Amino acid sequence: MVKFCLQCKSSFWGGQYCPKCEGQVELLDAALPENQKYLAELNVDVRPKYFARSSMMLTCFGFIMALPVGMFIFLRGMAIAGNVLLWASVGIGTVFAIAWGTWKLSHLVFAKQMTEVKDTKEAQLD
Ligand SMILES: [Zn+2]
Repeated sequence: MVKFCLQCKSSFWGGQYCPKCEGQVELLDAALPENQKYLAELNVDVRPKYFARSSMMLTCFGFIMALPVGMFIFLRGMAIAGNVLLWASVGIGTVFAIAWGTWKLSHLVFAKQMTEVKDTKEAQLD
């Protein structure tokens, strides 16, 4: 949950009160529709966090799904013809191709989404 402070214009991961400001300044939830009008005023741009997370999910999905697909190709190939070296290399090649492909694709998706983010703001990636 991303929260932000209207006084110092900083954003934080959760919490009720701003840790930077003096006194008890209430933090606002960035996900609530009534608070989204303030997002343009913040010093940081929180969108890179979400863009990075979706790219990370895509990469993770590709890395996880690559192994079963490679194993499936290897087993199907072995059922058709028993050339272990051929089907093992095709299966391993498939694993690396899918993993590398989703990694590159997620980088492209992240770079495309980041073109919307203005350079004048600090991108919050932590
Ligand atoms: Zn503050």
